Amino acid sequence: MTRTNIVDAARVELLLNELRLPSIRLMWAKLAEQSDREGWPAARFLAVLAEHEMADRGRRRFERHLTEARLPAGKTLATFDFEVVPMVSKAQVMALASGDAWLEKGANILLFGPPGGGKSHLSAALGLALVENGWRVLFVRTTDLVQQLQIARRELALESAIAKLDRYDLLILDDIAYVTKDQAETSVLFELIAARYERKSMLITANQPFGEWGKIFPDQAMTLAAIDRLVHHATILEMNVESYRRREALDQKRGRGRPPTHATINKTEKADG
Ligand code: ADP
Ligand code: MG
Repeated sequence: MTRTNIVDAARVELLLNELRLPSIRLMWAKLAEQSDREGWPAARFLAVLAEHEMADRGRRRFERHLTEARLPAGKTLATFDFEVVPMVSKAQVMALASGDAWLEKGANILLFGPPGGGKSHLSAALGLALVENGWRVLFVRTTDLVQQLQIARRELALESAIAKLDRYDLLILDDIAYVTKDQAETSVLFELIAARYERKSMLITANQPFGEWGKIFPDQAMTLAAIDRLVHHATILEMNVESYRRREALDQKRGRGRPPTHATINKTEKADG
């Protein structure tokens, strides 16, 4: 390198750092050498660098969104067996996974079913697919979020706490039915639902049908008002299947389905069904 080149190179490093272009900063020297050697047109050199920065930026954004989503690990659409929930259409779920049609208008998804039916798995898997498609998602246990909002309310910061959740295109509230009586009485959950109505989406899972939602909100009127807002633009999926864990355990016992990995088959045990 000539003296001017060395000075130029040092300046480029400083400028790229200042401009926050870490990928270009990492690549430019090697690519400049190749470009000089092979006589690239200047535009080509610049385009290759810009493409690297773009691609890395996309990857970094995805990593950030994945971390902030706090999805339970290992729950994907690929590992979800749609055959055990014939009432849920795989095609419909795959369409929802693109996000465009419903997240843009703040529509909701409600997932009903008994414990072990796959509600948390399916909602986490949908959340992951949406993050992969560029949406921002937060997965929380409903009681945890209610607790946080109650604290915010005590500090007179409920409004801003709810506003902060606006950055998520989708809020996944897992197990709404587990909200306790004292949590219900503060009505923070209602405030959240009302604030997001027709603007930002929610996916709510519940073991209990609407008829049993009375204890989630302080009174009947608020329960009805909450349900009304949630269902106004909503896809409702009912997963009325036997617990997947129980089913898997039984299948293993009968020697069907997947080969047993944990349980040992005890032939003398009475098969229940
Ligand atoms: P729920 O939230 O309805 O109580 P989970 O989603 O926690 O149920 O499911 C219980 C367990 O069974 C989890 O480990 C989940 O991954 C698994 N599971 C449930 N349904 C399915 C399914 N259809 N395909 C694959 N795994 C499933
Ligand atoms: Mg669950």
